[in-house]
Amino acid sequence: MTTDQTVIVPALGTLPAPSLASTLHAREVSAWFGRAKVLDRVSIEMPAGQVTALIGPSGCGKSTFLRILNRMHELVPGARLAGQVLLDGQDVYDPERRLTEARKSIGMVFQKPNPFPAMSIRENVLAGLKITGSRIGKDERIHLVEESLTRAGLWKEVRDRLDEPGSALSGGQQQRLCIARSLAVKPKILLMDEPCSALDPTSTRVVEETITQIAQDVTIVIVTHNMQQAARVSQRCAFFLASHGTPGVVVEQGPTDVMFDNPADARTADYVSGRF
Ligand code: ADP
Ligand code: MG
Repeated sequence: MTTDQTVIVPALGTLPAPSLASTLHAREVSAWFGRAKVLDRVSIEMPAGQVTALIGPSGCGKSTFLRILNRMHELVPGARLAGQVLLDGQDVYDPERRLTEARKSIGMVFQKPNPFPAMSIRENVLAGLKITGSRIGKDERIHLVEESLTRAGLWKEVRDRLDEPGSALSGGQQQRLCIARSLAVKPKILLMDEPCSALDPTSTRVVEETITQIAQDVTIVIVTHNMQQAARVSQRCAFFLASHGTPGVVVEQGPTDVMFDNPADARTADYVSGRF
């Protein structure tokens, strides 16, 4: 038997908490609806534990790209796809990989807060578990509700209101409830499609704080039209553009501060400064 005497084993208490975050990598992704090509060879690396912002004018394929990342694109009749999506190096579209597994790893939050209206706040948080087929005991459920709402920055506001319907909350609270519902499934990636577009400025800032907190252990990809928001919450940006009748492409991508302060492409400079 050989032992490596030089290996230093840290004391248990000093080990960092395991990170759930994963790297998502889109490689040469193209997409079609029927005969119309809407994305052309988009390659973006979305690194573990960071926030990547997708920016660009309406209609250039940002939402389509987001749906491709968690396999919702394939549900649209007539939709086609080329290229690869890799989650920690593994093909999300591998036919051997079950769809529920991909969905569990990659959560999604939409523009309009969409809590299930007939369900209580507590039931909303737990709703994702049914969809992914996870079964847990009562004590675990109680813990998971508190943990998910805490991570979403909502626990203190709703701890005494868990049996009220989700629809009783304000718009910003509903959006954080939707974030809690996604987090309850313990995703590695959270996709957010304009999550603050329907919110007032104060609620927007609260959701941004939540995003920054979650980003410590979940990789986030956020579509936003709010350039200040992209600057505040993201570490990386990808700028999408589609000219008349041509599919969306990524014109430029990189660290957010470079994209805002020193972009390589004049179109990026125009867009981020609002001159587009
Ligand atoms: P963005 O989110 O950047 O505004 P989208 O991804 O929503 O852009 O749309 C990209 C292009 O794909 C647009 O031309 C849009 O009309 C088209 N598109 C989006 N969804 C569908 C669909 N379900 N069927 C047909 N075309 C679609
Ligand atoms: Mg969109």
